[in-house]
Amino acid sequence: MKKIMMNTPLVEMDGDEMTRILWAMIKDELLNPFIDLKTEYYDLGLEYRNETNDNVTVLAAEAIKKYGVGVKCATITPNAARVKEYNLKEMWKSPNGTIRALLDGTVFRAPIIIDSIKPYVRTWEKPITIARHAYGDVYRDVEMKIEGKGKAELVFTNENGEEQRELIHDFKGDGVLLGMHNLNKSIESFARSCFNFAVDTKQDLWFATKDTISKKYDHTFKDIFQEIYDNEYKTKFEELNIEYFYTLIDDAIARVIKSNGGYIWACKNYDGDVMSDMVATAFGSLAMMTSVLVSPDGYFEYEAAHGTVQRHYYNHLEGKETSTNSIATIFAWSGALRKRGELDNNNDLVEFADNLEKASLQTINEGFMTKDLALLSNIENITVTNSADFIKEIRIRLEAIYKL
Ligand code: NAP
Ligand code: MG
Repeated sequence: MKKIMMNTPLVEMDGDEMTRILWAMIKDELLNPFIDLKTEYYDLGLEYRNETNDNVTVLAAEAIKKYGVGVKCATITPNAARVKEYNLKEMWKSPNGTIRALLDGTVFRAPIIIDSIKPYVRTWEKPITIARHAYGDVYRDVEMKIEGKGKAELVFTNENGEEQRELIHDFKGDGVLLGMHNLNKSIESFARSCFNFAVDTKQDLWFATKDTISKKYDHTFKDIFQEIYDNEYKTKFEELNIEYFYTLIDDAIARVIKSNGGYIWACKNYDGDVMSDMVATAFGSLAMMTSVLVSPDGYFEYEAAHGTVQRHYYNHLEGKETSTNSIATIFAWSGALRKRGELDNNNDLVEFADNLEKASLQTINEGFMTKDLALLSNIENITVTNSADFIKEIRIRLEAIYKL
């Protein structure tokens, strides 16, 4: 076979622990034999992040801005235990947070659906993609415990020193208080990322808040979405025959459960935090969730939604066999390769991405799967494979597609 050529490099971000092991296997078995793989490599493994004072993460984000498409392996977000384990100079920030801040992006998470694993919600036939706004609200709030009697007020002092006041509550006894904010600019970026991704994937976009109760705060989210839709996306949506649909959050939940799936659900920060875990669990497994960061300027970064699978890695280090599911990481690569192919008008590359996904799903549907999936699957004659053999089974099917 003549290897498939690439025009532009992908920004490749390597990572940590078990997913770093899978990353190398995927490249060896599923990519390099078929593609003349062109990447610009950034090692976001924790050791190298520490060595470069985390500058490598910033360089990777800048490279995504330069080339447009990146693919990322799961990485460790350091905590106190990791600082000790890796003898870190500092508790470096989450690479995902750093990249997201630099690209001003929104994360879209979607489950990979297969015939042999049925979602808990019987009506769900197509993926539900969750978009979570990642700025402000309760995640950047200030809080107070109130003791005794007293008046709580909301005060805004503008740059000329003029005050605007609202009484929050006249406390007669102990209580609690919180102040939170958001920024029009951030909501606008979020809205544009969502509309862009809906156009890109030709899916309806749903958005919901509690604007009937929160008449200024949530209503601003609703108004910003509507205004951007009307001014910038309405015509495009009509051409593609897709819909922007706004409703109240509680109505949205009821509709989501009764739906067949196949749309993007844009969520405010807290709703997205909670609902993404609910949707992931109801579809089956975190190991089957893909994730893509989309910036309002049209940059894309693909990854698996799960972490570095630390428990499996420690088994691996002890020489024990692991059965770690590589599907979401494989789909991160196929997503990035497809997007690269589309941007470069490289049909062979787009077709390869489709074939890689096809071979992966075929492997599972024919009964070869990792332990996590075997526990969920309802088909007979399952062969539970180890991490490496699962990828080799996919390679056999991918070679068959290319008649090798
Ligand atoms: P995790 O890596 O997502 O794994 C949690 C558990 O979920 C695993 O122990 C395993 O369950 C199951 N699991 C997840 N992915 C799997 C896969 N591909 N195949 C089979 N089972 C899978 O979360 P964590 O162990 O809490 O976090 C480990 C590290 O990942 C942390 O340092 C965290 O900072 C990092 N993290 C990174 C990202 C990212 O880069 N996007 C996201 C989340 C977490 P069993 O043990 O029951 O088999
Ligand atoms: Mg959560």
